[in-house]
Amino acid sequence: MEIIDTHCDVLWKLAAANGKLSFRNSPELDVNLERLQAGRVKVQAFAIFVDPELDSNREQWAQALKQVRYFKEEVLAQPEIVQVRTWEEVANVPEGKIGAMLTLEGCSPIGNSLERLEMLLDDGVMITSLVWNEGNLCADGIRQKRGAGVSDFGFKVIEKCNERGVWLDVSHISDAGFWDVLQSATHVMASHSNARAVCGNKRNLTDEQIQALISHDGLLQLVFCPDFVKGDETTHAADLTVTIDDLMKHVAHIIKLGGAKNLGLGSDFDGIETHVLHLENASQTKNLLSEIAKAYGEEVAKDVAGKNFVAHVTKK
Ligand SMILES: [Zn+2]
Repeated sequence: MEIIDTHCDVLWKLAAANGKLSFRNSPELDVNLERLQAGRVKVQAFAIFVDPELDSNREQWAQALKQVRYFKEEVLAQPEIVQVRTWEEVANVPEGKIGAMLTLEGCSPIGNSLERLEMLLDDGVMITSLVWNEGNLCADGIRQKRGAGVSDFGFKVIEKCNERGVWLDVSHISDAGFWDVLQSATHVMASHSNARAVCGNKRNLTDEQIQALISHDGLLQLVFCPDFVKGDETTHAADLTVTIDDLMKHVAHIIKLGGAKNLGLGSDFDGIETHVLHLENASQTKNLLSEIAKAYGEEVAKDVAGKNFVAHVTKK
């Protein structure tokens, strides 16, 4: 079963550690080469994610470039890893290799510069979200009380992504921003979000959003962050035991809404502090797939593992 995972934050961890962690096998990393191999992951997305608390846009941009450097000098340095830069390459990673796909989580580091966006796209970014939880020049994130949609500049970013065949990612964006993106972007996915009807955390998608993504031929990538699996806005999953069975409730709900052919995986490994039991690093993603196979059959498990993703990204 070929696994494609559309979200992890290991570049952020690698850059923060300033060379003290090895992508090959540091146990501090949920996603490292040995764990990807053990889990038979075929394509892993690597997000550029910059802390919105950084003082200035200059620092944010420097941080983004540092993560790109770690992607090139630490991740791509492993002989078993090949960078995938086109959707065809995602679908055709050579036997014995693991594809590494660069993504951008939030456009804060580009400030108001489309040139910077182009630089990142030239480095191989294939999925872009406009904003993380905060607000920026493109849109408001889901934790920004103002709740605004997409700005004029944000629409220019979407236009550029449309031109270049880059998918827009609606995980983290405000509800108003979600609908703006859906109306203007040609390719839309939620790279790491679950169903809000099952777990009432605002980072998850409402049924209306899930159905709209399905009818737009979009992708819904399940996230393994315990806070987005069980409970609601008021609970902290750190206080609960969260299991694969809890995550299976999201699978069931999304399938019930008609999303069996839109479901995929976006673990959020290395961006989360606690884990779903037995879904603790990249070597364990297959545990979720075994449960999906038991409940819905081997073909559905293969679809969720990566076939749905490949079918969608190579279609358009
Ligand atoms: Zn995230």
